[in-house]
Amino acid sequence: MSGPYLCPNCTTNRTRFNMIEQIPKAIKMDPESGEVVQEYTNDNLDAFHIPYKGSHYRVQCGACGLIENEETFKARASSSKNPFLS
Ligand SMILES: [Zn+2]
Repeated sequence: MSGPYLCPNCTTNRTRFNMIEQIPKAIKMDPESGEVVQEYTNDNLDAFHIPYKGSHYRVQCGACGLIENEETFKARASSSKNPFLS
């Protein structure tokens, strides 16, 4: 979490957010039953299993409820200067 956020949907909220921390858990599933047959750590992932590379946080706007990746909120903030601050 670094740098300002701005909600890309309502474009007014810069202060109220719900941070949703994403903690990926790699599993192997039985294709028939859907039962988890193995859990992996990053060290013992098998060769065919791609480790999670998505964003660490999802962010929900505390004003309009939009949920997006953290990067989307940061990008919107950096492409728009706050007229009340500058
Ligand atoms: Zn919003």
